[in-house]
Amino acid sequence: MSAEIYGVSLGPGDPDLVTVKALKVLDQADVIYYPGTITAAGEVNSLALEILQALDIPESKLKSMLVAMKMPRDDTACVYDATASSVLRDVKSGLRVAFVCLGDAGFYSTFGHLLERIDASSVSLEMIAGVPAFIAAGARAGVSLTLRSDRMIVLPDLDNADELDGYLERYETVVVMKLSMIRDELYTYLEKRGAVFVYAEHLGTSREFVSRDLADLRSRSIPYFSLIILFRKDLSPSDTCQER
Ligand code: SAH
Repeated sequence: MSAEIYGVSLGPGDPDLVTVKALKVLDQADVIYYPGTITAAGEVNSLALEILQALDIPESKLKSMLVAMKMPRDDTACVYDATASSVLRDVKSGLRVAFVCLGDAGFYSTFGHLLERIDASSVSLEMIAGVPAFIAAGARAGVSLTLRSDRMIVLPDLDNADELDGYLERYETVVVMKLSMIRDELYTYLEKRGAVFVYAEHLGTSREFVSRDLADLRSRSIPYFSLIILFRKDLSPSDTCQER
């Protein structure tokens, strides 16, 4: 480990999707920060922690960074500030620090909030790339996300499902993350549009659910850890062999 702080990508949930490089850093780190949420009842949820536990990382190295589910943005900012200060204190006392994230650490990731708060000229910092959830979703469904000159867009969230029409006019593949934001409209939209899609939730965990079938979504609760990949056309070949 040559850097002082590592942003470590854990992949979406399956411990086998943690890279060899990430594992090396986790083994050598003195302190590992992980993000999680805390419910009003005080219950902690952290998929990142579940992955660390599956990898047998000693609990003694772990420190949590918890935000409440419905915390106002300013309060979340305070949690990020406090964690950044704590990370810098650990670095000053000579500890090797890793901060883990689900999926890739540079892609809509909590680590990005720390990056904004840490002066990269005063500490050495390295990020370890990982598998983002939407890439894992395509793989689990056995589909190719893009082919030839297909264009793809990833939307971090949406205000309403009908916005998707505009995106599907411009892109062959549209990924929507934080899908729970449009959970009430999703089924009706997909039915109306007759869309070809891959829906995935809790990828890489025992709660994983992946489907391309609309009927499966009729009564689905659409949790926070879910996403959808929409395709403008069906997935049959767009070129045909003319040989006889
Ligand atoms: N850094 C992550 C993205 C974090 S934003 C990445 O690279 O994938 C959180 C969103 O990511 C969730 O709302 C969900 O849309 C998606 N996501 C992350 N992990 C997931 C999982 N295991 N299963 C399904 N979706 C997941």
